[in-house]
Amino acid sequence: MDLQHIRNFSIIAHIDHGKSTLADRFIQLCDGLSAREMNTQVLDSMDIERERGITIKAQSVTLNFTAKNGEIYQLNFIDTPGHVDFSYEVSRSLAACEGAILVVDAAQGVEAQSVANCYTAIELGLEVMPVLNKIDLPSAEPEKVIKEIEDIIGIPAEQALRISAKTGLGVAEVLEELVHVIPPPEGDVEGPLQALIIDSWFDNYLGVVSLVKIVNGSLRKKQKITIMSTGNSFIAERIGIFTPKRLDTLELKTGQVGFVVGAIKDIFGAPVGDTITLTGNPCAKALPGFQKVQPRVFAGLYPVSSDDYEDLRESLSKLRLNDAALQFEPESSQALGFGFRCGFLGMLHMEIIQERLEREYDVNLITTAPTVIYEVETNKGDVLYVDNPANLPDIGSIKMIREPIIQANILVPQEYLGSVITLCIAKRGVQVNMQYLGSQVSLHYELPLSEVVLDFFDRLKSVSRGYASFEYEFKRFEEAALVKLDVLINGDRVDALSIIVHRDLSQTRGRELVEKMKELIPRQMYEVAIQAAIGGKIIARSTVKSMGKNVTAKCYGGDISRKKKLLEKQKAGKKRMKQVGNIEIPQEAFLAVLQVN
Ligand code: GDP
Ligand code: MG
Repeated sequence: MDLQHIRNFSIIAHIDHGKSTLADRFIQLCDGLSAREMNTQVLDSMDIERERGITIKAQSVTLNFTAKNGEIYQLNFIDTPGHVDFSYEVSRSLAACEGAILVVDAAQGVEAQSVANCYTAIELGLEVMPVLNKIDLPSAEPEKVIKEIEDIIGIPAEQALRISAKTGLGVAEVLEELVHVIPPPEGDVEGPLQALIIDSWFDNYLGVVSLVKIVNGSLRKKQKITIMSTGNSFIAERIGIFTPKRLDTLELKTGQVGFVVGAIKDIFGAPVGDTITLTGNPCAKALPGFQKVQPRVFAGLYPVSSDDYEDLRESLSKLRLNDAALQFEPESSQALGFGFRCGFLGMLHMEIIQERLEREYDVNLITTAPTVIYEVETNKGDVLYVDNPANLPDIGSIKMIREPIIQANILVPQEYLGSVITLCIAKRGVQVNMQYLGSQVSLHYELPLSEVVLDFFDRLKSVSRGYASFEYEFKRFEEAALVKLDVLINGDRVDALSIIVHRDLSQTRGRELVEKMKELIPRQMYEVAIQAAIGGKIIARSTVKSMGKNVTAKCYGGDISRKKKLLEKQKAGKKRMKQVGNIEIPQEAFLAVLQVN
């Protein structure tokens, strides 16, 4: 396959605009899989992903497309995830492409994440080809959406194809146009090998598999390769492409996207963004890599039963084999015992890890309230990064606390502008820019990350009836009047319940927090006092009344099976409870902070 007949592309789309459906159509059209093999949405391979309908891991599919001119083109489609938490994965997938199809739901219009991803594509020099999807819907308004694409993103869209990925209408035309609009890759076919690692993951049978783009030169099976950042060398035991099934080949040439398997121990041996070259004929220097991913949200993960600590460590290690963005290190808590402080990209990432630990690895967990990382300067002039409120140094020794600030780019239809601005103000936002673009408004706000990670996304959706969308990027650390809010249960400070809040919000948050916890902590044999305190000062209090009678007393004697059931139910309910002193605290209470604002 010569360069002129290769096209590398991604699909950029906001969640639910139809990227996966369109990709599946492409595979069908190009006979990538037989109808029987074509289970719905082959590209979203992980279970959780399928249930949640989001694409997490970047994957690729190589397809052979016969165009109207009779020529056969090799199309490498590189999938990208569609949630803000994973936006860094989008840019690395795009870096392997010469073009991108921008899919916009003709009934929904342009949304913030598509805009952000489109700009990334344009910055990387990609040709962007807009397509209007869901044209079969009676609510589709293609003319309005064309104008939005032109006004908001600023690329011509009058000629955009109008398609339905669902019915298949116009899908073949998309591929036909793609081979004409998107340029072929460029590269030095004869030069020394430079292969960009787009993604690496751990496969139970093969070990570490790397998805690569051959930027220059070529790679043959069994050649000796060097990973440039580490200098380690391996034999390229297997190479090939995904169709989407894995297909071994003998060679990958300039411009192609495919996989490489060597005897590499873990994904850190083949880091994403690194360059692979030939040991015998190395290239002069590595390709420009990608920005390193930074976890933004931190939480403690503790096994409900301390016997499961080693299991938890092992499960986290396994998960990390496929997820370089997941960080963890041991920590201990007076209240919860031994566990791990984990770093995540965002709340969705955290929920996915939590779910996978419980579902796939069968570990019962208590997760503490998520927090961001704070930059703390002490009076002595030391600078510490604090990712656990319990570790905040004594207030008297702190000169200042700086919190992470992000820029949020929000797109919202005019009728919801007022409520979105109100929300941003409540979250301590500062407006940077506001621009009317057609029937939508583009809002730029600087917001503290701590206010955004918890529930901003859900709140934004609810105040705008689902119409507002946003994406964000980290800006800087900035001084703020922050205090540590402690929670005391029957007079004892529970370290795992401490949070860091802005002084101005501390009174209300403290009050709401103890009220919420009162609802979440079940009645016990004794009365339970819940207090919120800042330093030595109690600022709020609530009480869970004692239960009085034994629960089984409700079973009025005789009925043994009912009694058994009740006890079983209690036991099941207990699974996610942690005994703190003589009080049982359920998982929900540890996360009560997510429910107050
Ligand atoms: P993704 O999140 O961008 O990958 O979106 P999906 O491909 O998962 O599609 C989201 C939803 O829209 C699914 O329920 C699809 O069946 C539906 N959908 C996708 N394309 C079309 C279309 O052309 N017309 C209609 N009516 N629905 C579509
Ligand atoms: Mg999808």
